[in-house]
Amino acid sequence: MVTTRFAPSPTGFLHIGGARTALFSWAYAKKHAGKFILRIEDTDIERSTQASVDSIINAMNWLGLNYDEGPYYQTKRLERYKSAIQELLNNGHAYYCYCSREELDEMRNEKLKRGEKPKYDRRCLHNPIKKPGVAPVVRFNNPQDGSVVWHDLVKGKIEFSNSELDDLIIARSDGTPTYNFCVVIDDLDMQVTHVIRGDDHVNNTPRQINILAAFAAKIPNYAHVPMILRDDGQKMSKRTDAVSVMDYKGLGILPEALLNYLARLCFGHGNDEIFTLNQFVEWFDLAHVSSSPARFDLKKLYWVNGEHIKTKDISELALLVQDELQANGVNLQSGPNLPTVLAKIRDRSDNLIKLVDECSFFYQRKDINSADASQYLTNESLAILEQFAAGLTGVDWNLDGIKQYIKDFCTIRQIKMPQLGMPLRLKMCGTTSAPSVDLIMELLGRDEVVSRINTIV
Ligand code: GLU
Ligand code: ZN
Repeated sequence: MVTTRFAPSPTGFLHIGGARTALFSWAYAKKHAGKFILRIEDTDIERSTQASVDSIINAMNWLGLNYDEGPYYQTKRLERYKSAIQELLNNGHAYYCYCSREELDEMRNEKLKRGEKPKYDRRCLHNPIKKPGVAPVVRFNNPQDGSVVWHDLVKGKIEFSNSELDDLIIARSDGTPTYNFCVVIDDLDMQVTHVIRGDDHVNNTPRQINILAAFAAKIPNYAHVPMILRDDGQKMSKRTDAVSVMDYKGLGILPEALLNYLARLCFGHGNDEIFTLNQFVEWFDLAHVSSSPARFDLKKLYWVNGEHIKTKDISELALLVQDELQANGVNLQSGPNLPTVLAKIRDRSDNLIKLVDECSFFYQRKDINSADASQYLTNESLAILEQFAAGLTGVDWNLDGIKQYIKDFCTIRQIKMPQLGMPLRLKMCGTTSAPSVDLIMELLGRDEVVSRINTIV
């Protein structure tokens, strides 16, 4: 069975690069009717927090990336790592190293002076000298000859010569296992068949493969997906970019749009830009994941989001908007049916914030700011509006009837459309940037339109 995992370190929020990796692991498992595991890599106790675990899980839920197993926590598996380390010590695949920091520094400097790689010289493998009161670390006895080769499912063949690999410390002097070792034991125990992760881990892979081989374990497939960079090619940074998945929720992005965008950013399926998660699962394969870094383009994300807003199931969209409106204290009983409103105006918004805002004036009168009022609500335009309102009683209340009335009114009064439209829109919505006046009128209903026009501001 195909088994994939997403293995975040809980040291911050779920980053969009992480979300992309999670999406690919999730989709790969789904596509192959396999299993997707969530594993929390929390052995770095100083930097890991429960708040971060919660926010990662919250973001996974928001995205809808459900896991079949987990979350597993590495800190709950320490005994297992310890016994695995003992196993390697027993069969000679690992050894104690008593070298002090000073000794290691000296060794390093001498090697550098001779122009050699500053690798550990394995003196404790051959001649361990126990020092009283010094607790040793445990090092992995890395093979000395040959090389580690794997066929990366994204990057193709990758080879590391064993001569480049140090004898990795797998247990610190306090006995705690180190990062690469825990990953190996977890992937082994959880029978992970496909390790899909960021390509910042490429250098760890040969070490992990060697350790797996020491346990005579089956080596999983590896797929290293490239980084997501800013559109100027720089690394994304918490200080200047929205990097957390939940930041995008705050910008009014739909989860399916964010996933669509992230999928498309790193994966190609012909010219298809807009797709559902189910379509993505059907199409997804690692061979079509791009092997070079992707550049994040916020404008494009908004465009993708707009396309999803246009096609989202209207009652689901209404639920989202309703929640926001109610959170803002808007009473939905005081205006037209929300799905009807959404069906007519959703094409104008590429994010939920704007959509919610454009819905809100159907249910709530908004204050008109004084600059707009003095520009558009002149005595002349108020007189036009008064006359306009008076004639509304006879209008057939549908879009065509309203359009016709507006057209005839402008002709008879010999005014241009904006002379009516701007003050009218301002009176109805409190803002000049809103959908077309005929549409707003139709949705607001005759009485409400007359009442808003006649309300003195
Ligand atoms: N915990 C690692 C990270 O957050 C992922 C390790 C892995 O996927 O193997 O970058
Ligand atoms: Zn040593």
